[in-house]
Amino acid sequence: MTFGRVAVVGLGLLGGSVGLAIADNLPDCTTTGYDADPATRLRAAERGLVNRVCDTAAEAVAGADLVIFCVPVGAMGDAAAQIADALPERAIVSDVGSSKASVAEALRAALPGATVIPAHPVAGTENSGPDAGFAHLFRHRWCILTPPADADHAATARLSAFWEALGARVEIMDAAHHDLVLAVTSHIPHLIAYTIVGTASDLEEVTRGEVIKYSAGGFRDFTRIAASDPVMWRDVFLSNREAVLEMLGRFTEDLTALQRAIRRGDGEALFDLFTRTRDIRRSIVEQGQDDARPDFGRSDH
Ligand code: NAP
Repeated sequence: MTFGRVAVVGLGLLGGSVGLAIADNLPDCTTTGYDADPATRLRAAERGLVNRVCDTAAEAVAGADLVIFCVPVGAMGDAAAQIADALPERAIVSDVGSSKASVAEALRAALPGATVIPAHPVAGTENSGPDAGFAHLFRHRWCILTPPADADHAATARLSAFWEALGARVEIMDAAHHDLVLAVTSHIPHLIAYTIVGTASDLEEVTRGEVIKYSAGGFRDFTRIAASDPVMWRDVFLSNREAVLEMLGRFTEDLTALQRAIRRGDGEALFDLFTRTRDIRRSIVEQGQDDARPDFGRSDH
């Protein structure tokens, strides 16, 4: 059911974590890896992120029965084109990209005829690069598979079993729905964090020193998200444009309603909303998707 040879293309946070998680959970599986950056390849070999780090993507995928692209979503098409002539016929192609419809299209265009089952493990941190990965990144996290309508069921089942073996819980949905859901749960929150941190640092009447000194008032929690990789997030917004713009429209309306409530002194409206949002936080902690401790349990990593 599982795979004997997995090739990981892109050896940063996600690729490194996939390699380490395979070593921990699927000891009979051999891994190869490739990254476009020679310094990353060197560091990946030092850390043992995969069993063998290769000098070309084609070398990495030779003999693989699963190839996982772990590069920024804007680089998926180019990365896939590099292996088009070397991809074994029986191999399943997948990825970990944060947006799904555009990535599926890029992979299918670069690898016509290949079995492509896109995936998105909803797990990550604000860190990137070959030192950022860790084996238990996917444990108890959701991994969303977005197989195309005509996908081979056996291939989808094998990929589901693979992610479950790495500790993830698997959900299957269509790519367009994934992109809408993730726009509201991940992409818009990142956009808001980037905005608020940008606004605070541009304020002329408040000094940068004060922003940092009094950050515990809420600002510092946004700065964690706003420290996320600029290349990755630029690509997410460009690739999931439609869904992000739709959700941003709704968010802007809600923000305007709050603005009106504050202007009118409508304490009831504010109180009602803040009570509802507190319940959502409780549900997230209860379902094991976060930790109630002030550092969100991150010191355990
Ligand atoms: P990362 O740490 O920056 O790693 C990406 C690696 O891919 C970099 O080393 C990059 O090298 C390399 N790369 C770029 N183009 C390549 C190519 N054509 N061929 C081979 N390697 C290439 O990024 P990440 O956080 O692991 O993100 C990887 C993917 O996971 C993205 O699609 C992202 O949307 C998705 N994802 C991220 C998170 C998260 O929280 N970070 C969560 C879920 C999914 P250079 O640095 O030289 O460009």
